[in-house]
Amino acid sequence: MKFTAQLRNCHRCVAILTDFDYTTHPGIQALKHVRNPLCIFDVDHFKVLWANQAGLAFWHADSIEHLREREIEQHVTEPIVKRLQQLQTDCFEQDISLTELWTIFPGGASRTVEHSFSPFPIGDETRALLIEVVNEIFDASSDTLRSTAALLHTSAMISLYDADHSLIYCNPAARESLHSRCTTLPQRFINDADIYIIEEALELAECYTTELEVNTTTGPRWHEMTLQKSVDPVSGQPSILVSAVDATERRQAQQTAYKLAYTDSLTGLPNRAALTIYLDELLSIADEEQNEFSLFFLDLDRFKIINDSLGHSIGDQLLIEVAHRLKQAVGGNSMASRLGGDEFVLIMNRVTDTAELKNAAEKILKAMAEPVMLGNQKLRILPSIGICRFPFDGETIASLMENADAAMYMAKARQCGYCFFDKQMTITLSATIKDKLGLENDLVYAIRNHEFELYYQPKISCRTGHVSGVEALIRWNHPTRGLVPPDSFITIAEETGQILELGNWVLDQSMRQQKLWQEAGLLVPVSINISAHQFNTDDLMMNVSECLVRNSCDPAMIELEITESMLLGDADRIHQTLQQLSAMGIQLTLDDFGTGYSNLAYLQKYPLDILKIDRAFLVDQKRSMLMETILNMGKVLGLKVVAEGVEVRSQVDWLINHGCDQMQGFYFSEPLPVHQVTHYLEKHCGGAAPAIKAA
Ligand code: C2E
Ligand code: MG
Ligand code: MG
Repeated sequence: MKFTAQLRNCHRCVAILTDFDYTTHPGIQALKHVRNPLCIFDVDHFKVLWANQAGLAFWHADSIEHLREREIEQHVTEPIVKRLQQLQTDCFEQDISLTELWTIFPGGASRTVEHSFSPFPIGDETRALLIEVVNEIFDASSDTLRSTAALLHTSAMISLYDADHSLIYCNPAARESLHSRCTTLPQRFINDADIYIIEEALELAECYTTELEVNTTTGPRWHEMTLQKSVDPVSGQPSILVSAVDATERRQAQQTAYKLAYTDSLTGLPNRAALTIYLDELLSIADEEQNEFSLFFLDLDRFKIINDSLGHSIGDQLLIEVAHRLKQAVGGNSMASRLGGDEFVLIMNRVTDTAELKNAAEKILKAMAEPVMLGNQKLRILPSIGICRFPFDGETIASLMENADAAMYMAKARQCGYCFFDKQMTITLSATIKDKLGLENDLVYAIRNHEFELYYQPKISCRTGHVSGVEALIRWNHPTRGLVPPDSFITIAEETGQILELGNWVLDQSMRQQKLWQEAGLLVPVSINISAHQFNTDDLMMNVSECLVRNSCDPAMIELEITESMLLGDADRIHQTLQQLSAMGIQLTLDDFGTGYSNLAYLQKYPLDILKIDRAFLVDQKRSMLMETILNMGKVLGLKVVAEGVEVRSQVDWLINHGCDQMQGFYFSEPLPVHQVTHYLEKHCGGAAPAIKAA
């Protein structure tokens, strides 16, 4: 057994036995004449050091030496060793004597004896127990013996307190756990109020079971306790019998399980389940307390793009930052939670005042406005918030969530940061959702049924006024809806993955058309829009080159348009893709410049040829300075600059005067179907476009 091995290996054992001179020890001299059997027992080494004459007779030994030589550890069990060790600790630490009823077997016969254990120091460092056989019980029933042994050895902590709450008995397990200072029941509890709760409970019932945080020798622990009104069998006075078991580990396991079930593992915020419980609670007290509250539904714009292009690890870090800022932005009376993905819900308890809610929403937007640096990327968090109020905008969890969601969609559509719910929204929104679902279903058949068509919009050279190229823009000839613009279905196709098939179809069709025009003597480069999903697939290079070969198309006559958000991902991979396309002779355009991150560093970093400035720059007069800077930057970096969305003559003049290279917009022509644009090209490919001619 492990403990006996430990004892045997103890080198000090021999030293102590020889060091201890019982013949001269003053304590021994005083004990010699006690009539009860007694011995000095070295618990640390499991050796009897000395016994009086009555002791030698009781333990069946001829002499002290005979007793000292006994290998006692070979005849006892581990619980006995532990009991004696604990008795020694208790006696020394509390400087007390303890009495216990033991059944022992000296000389092989069973004897039930009341033992008294007292501290017996030997020198400064060595301790021993003075064990005295106080009383032998000859008439103990077997039940008494067994219940006494059970009480001694059980791990349940049993204690008895008198009517004044003073400790009058504790079994070894309780003594091991209880501080020596804990001599009354209230001292056991960490929370002072617990004793009053117990007293109240015991006034109403005989027994009270509870789980409390208690002071123990190993620090604060949780004990499951049963407190029972009883009578002290010795004094006959009323008492409280306490039985306790340690529940700390179970509680910790429960708490961990609870935490896992109700916490969002990524952000540490309460999750959907926790939010539901909290809302349930708020609704259940709403009537009684006339409670009102507000629900903010927060969703991040363009999060999917960040996640898809920068990877999930960056996406995760961004969500952690959002959670952190959200918690900081809102006060203690609100609860921030994450539903999943990029959706967060904030409950503002007892707040429904419009001004206060506006203030909170603006605080959140302000907290999110500061760009986040992740790796070497500077990212902007753009949240949209929908706000709805209980009970005015919804009376159930489902209706509140739905309505806040509708308000959030509206905030997204209006790009206004936050939006309060109003009843009209549900009507508009359900129509939009139905519409989206309908389109999603119809898209499945659209390619197969040849419902797509490419329109082409001419681009005009600022220098010559000639048509210098066309941009292919997809249209959907829907059997019942008529012509559907790309903005209504490109994102759906991205979400469903159909964009890959659609994108390949666009590549093939536009290259075929370019070749047909070339054969007809119309030398016109064609720009093709590439979607984010398409750009991120490994097949892009293969698809482009296959299309070029299949249509015998000159790569120099093809431009691919990508947007800034596609340049956010793995820089090496993006560089490689762009480099390979460029090496094929294809021109690369950065489309919609100015709507996204407007990062001028990209223009230097990647092999781009053309910069297409978003039409917002032409519409907004205040941005003309910026437009000038971009035009100059383009020149410095050797990029051609195209202005899109040119609608009026003054814009044409401004662009020509400021050295823009190409223009595209309704002023010259809307996107046209093939036969019409062919006609336009036949008229204007070699000569100036009509609008410039007229100037
Ligand atoms: P984009 O590539 O920036 O295309 C320019 C958009 O501006 C076109 O919208 C065009 O009709 C519109 N536009 C041109 N001139 C003017 C103007 O003077 N004023 C105004 N207000 N608008 C003008 P469209 O055709 O609705 O296309 C919208 C977007 O859909 C495109 O923006 C492009 O991002 C995407 N898209 C179109 N075709 C395809 C395609 O084949 N594949 C992919 N992946 N995306 C496409
Ligand atoms: Mg484009
Ligand atoms: Mg554009």
